[in-house]
Amino acid sequence: MKAINKIYVNGEFVTPNGTEVLDIISPVTNQKTGEVTLGDEVDTRNAVTAAKEAFKTFSKTTREERIAYLEKLRSVVSSRAKDLTDIMVEEYGGTFQFSAMVTQNMLNDISAMIDILKDFDFEQTVGSSKVYLQPVGVVGIIIPWNMSNGFIVTKLSTAIAAGCTAVVKPSEMSVQQTQVIAECFHNAGLPKGVINFVNGLGDVVGAEITRNPDISKIAFTGSTTVGKIIAKGAVDSMKRVTLELGGKSPNIILDDANLKETVPTAIFAAYLNSGQACAAGTRLLVPESKLEEVNEIAKATVQNIKVGDPKDADTVVGPMVSKKQYERVENYIRIGLQEGATLLIGGEGKPHGLEDGNFVKATIFTNVKNNMRIAQEEIFGPVLCIIPYKNDDDAMAIANDTTYGLHAYIFSADKERAYRMASQLDAGRVCINGLSHDSKAPFGGFKQSGIGREYGVFGLEEYLEPKAILG
Ligand code: NAD
Repeated sequence: MKAINKIYVNGEFVTPNGTEVLDIISPVTNQKTGEVTLGDEVDTRNAVTAAKEAFKTFSKTTREERIAYLEKLRSVVSSRAKDLTDIMVEEYGGTFQFSAMVTQNMLNDISAMIDILKDFDFEQTVGSSKVYLQPVGVVGIIIPWNMSNGFIVTKLSTAIAAGCTAVVKPSEMSVQQTQVIAECFHNAGLPKGVINFVNGLGDVVGAEITRNPDISKIAFTGSTTVGKIIAKGAVDSMKRVTLELGGKSPNIILDDANLKETVPTAIFAAYLNSGQACAAGTRLLVPESKLEEVNEIAKATVQNIKVGDPKDADTVVGPMVSKKQYERVENYIRIGLQEGATLLIGGEGKPHGLEDGNFVKATIFTNVKNNMRIAQEEIFGPVLCIIPYKNDDDAMAIANDTTYGLHAYIFSADKERAYRMASQLDAGRVCINGLSHDSKAPFGGFKQSGIGREYGVFGLEEYLEPKAILG
């Protein structure tokens, strides 16, 4: 049995004041594997006090000192790469394929932030004035369970580059992953109090971060529902807020695309992180005239996809993080059937031989109408909706007919045509002809997918407050 019974405050792993204990449950077996002792409001306030004290000196560090900290962090993260990947697989059932990619992205993201910091102008001349970009203050960072350490590393490397200090509240379902990343930050030799981690519940630790007047900014990743609660609470002390929220991303296959190549890629985009990804391409828009051909290829692709043990290198879809998440996905499959969508493959119930864990069948609905709930609401599981369209204008109208606007994908043999379509999409990121990540390009949502951007210069500016000095 594992026991996670420390939080990281003021440079030390300490016993929390909080006494609530939660079970740690394996998503593969639903067996208890350990316990976590959660922090509370007192722990959060202690962490904020430490971060506020550390800000006095950390905010004055030079660019070179911050680069040195980030370089040390990158080297520590690199030395723990295997542990970081393995604990994702073990704790929430992230597939080995996905988890290894996230670990590599963490290293790339730190490297990208080092590059950005080398060239960033913290003092600019604007008009006849000097504009100084100074660190915003103590940042409260609230994180979901679905790629926990990836989000933590992105946000904290940006905070360090800006000269901010931080209190991180990861999901209570990510405490084992948090332990490993907290050790990495500890071993990176940052001054005490610069980075603090408090495990705890959203309505306890998260709520304290939201209302604490000594926190200047909240960087949140999670659901749109919780993002709205945080934004409303944060306004009382006029905190700066960046919100990375949900998505229902369209993936448009244009009529000139090679279906044999693009349909399998589109399925991988939908089943990213076993479908538990904000950027998953869960609405596949295909020309009406090619629907039958797409259905055939999609079905054949999914028949060959491995749903199973996340440790296996060839597993594409692992378990859902929890029983609750499993029930949620199953419920949406029932809704899809009730709404009259055609079930192409998968459906209700656990796959044969995987009855113990939170496994869902890799599922595709076809002939879906965009106004159905399964096409509008974030399911967060391996459920793809194939939606036929008549022409390019119709495809664009369907793609943008959503309250979300986080991500989109376009596949076409004609790159210029794809770019023209991309310019009309209401989405913070559009990938053309594949799945890719760029650690220097902004990431964030249009509409109810969020406020603000992360990564690169756009991300760094969110952690800085401009001060103009005139005369
Ligand atoms: P969630 O919104 O339920 O929880 C996210 C975090 O907020 C957790 O740490 C939780 O404890 C905390 N929280 C909950 N209630 C709170 C409150 N009242 N005050 C303060 N904090 C509170 O999300 P989740 O289920 O952990 O993750 C899945 C969601 O995250 C999906 O909607 C997904 O789209 C979204 N997400 C978005 C991105 C992005 O970059 N846009 C990335 C990953 C996940």
